[in-house]
Amino acid sequence: MGRSKRFAVVGGGIGGLTVAIAMQRKGFHVTVYESAPFIRPLGAGLGLGVNAIKAFMDIGLSDDVLKAGSIIKKISIKDQHGNVLTTTDSERISRKYKLVNNFTIHRADLHEVLLRHLKEDTLQLGKNCVDFTQTSSGVKINFQDGSSSESDYVIACDGVHSVFRKKLIPGSVPRYAGYTCWRAVIENLPASIDFDVTSETWGRGHRFGIVPVNKNRLYWFACINANENDSLKRVYGVPELMNHFGKFHTPIPEILQHTRNDQLIWNDIIDIKPLKRFAFGNIVLMGDAAHATTPNMGQGACMAIEDAAILANTVAGSNTVEDAFVAFERKRIKRTTTIVNDSWQLGKVAQWENPLLTTVRNSLVKLTPSSFAERQVKFLQEVSLH
Ligand SMILES: Cc1cc2nc3c(=O)[nH]c(=O)nc-3n(C[C@H](O)[C@H](O)[C@H](O)COP(=O)(O)OP(=O)(O)OC[C@H]3O[C@@H](n4cnc5c(N)ncnc54)[C@H](O)[C@@H]3O)c2cc1C
Repeated sequence: MGRSKRFAVVGGGIGGLTVAIAMQRKGFHVTVYESAPFIRPLGAGLGLGVNAIKAFMDIGLSDDVLKAGSIIKKISIKDQHGNVLTTTDSERISRKYKLVNNFTIHRADLHEVLLRHLKEDTLQLGKNCVDFTQTSSGVKINFQDGSSSESDYVIACDGVHSVFRKKLIPGSVPRYAGYTCWRAVIENLPASIDFDVTSETWGRGHRFGIVPVNKNRLYWFACINANENDSLKRVYGVPELMNHFGKFHTPIPEILQHTRNDQLIWNDIIDIKPLKRFAFGNIVLMGDAAHATTPNMGQGACMAIEDAAILANTVAGSNTVEDAFVAFERKRIKRTTTIVNDSWQLGKVAQWENPLLTTVRNSLVKLTPSSFAERQVKFLQEVSLH
């Protein structure tokens, strides 16, 4: 296909920046419109699976991404007393598949790597898309600052609250998962951290995750069952979190005590009920805009990164961009639907409150053979990027 067409990528998050780089490397002309007025080191840590690493390899970014984070050796699920319910030997699985299986990185560091690889003058900041008009010859995007832009095609990467998705599929609003989440990255670490292990501790209606980012930084998250946008929970600080997690095993209380209130990031957990369409003529949805998922499988960003590699390969290999967008949709709907649904179910089970059910759950997790985790990795790494 000719390379003269202009692509607008709306949203400069992980998905938007990755697809912009992937498209540029195929020779396409891309502009990224991002609503934030400046790039700031936002967010917490991110776990990336084997599929994200495979997609970054395809785009040619994996060396720099891997340098900026660290490899996870083991992943454990524990009960609140610290008894290990199951451990996945991630290092062994990585060796078997000859691909890094699990990896952590600070979001800001991933952004920095992506920005470094984006061609100069690609990113336009402070461009908050408020509406768009689609014609047979292109798409006009209107921004909040009164300006507009015209392009031949739009790749909508504007996240879970996507303006594009809401207009193209009215009613596709986020759904609340039933639990709310606090996250933080801390550098002031307690002595008792095992840097080789990522862990998630399941209580009754609440759980706590520990993800070492490197020897100096640790990312943690805490989820609690709550009403949507709960006015009491939204003002929680460390002391209130200690009321829920203070009796959890070491080093959870210590990690909280080493966290300042101003380091907390709070969100209700939401996703999008799986869609049946991503392609709309000269507009395509990808990343969270298309298939936002709950974070229980650590796959939201991974899916956006897979999307980026697949979309660029598909556009480059098709006769028309419209055909490529439809082919992309066909390749992505089933896989992303599976992830969204599995992650939703996993979150429900992890957040169970009933004492009897949680006891049964923990016993079943203990009995689950290690081949189960490996099958999951196999499913993730078998993604075809073309
Ligand atoms: C608590 C939590 C933990 C998570 N942990 C993991 C994990 O460990 N591993 C993993 O793979 N995923 C994880 N995720 C999911 C991951 O964060 C998302 O899936 C990923 O960020 C999606 O990338 P995106 O680029 O599609 O969307 P986003 O990251 O949301 O980026 C969208 C971008 O678009 C911009 N934007 C929005 N609206 C407009 C507009 N109207 N005009 C212009 N720009 C706009 C935004 O400012 C933003 O920069 C987690 C999510 C949560 C909530």
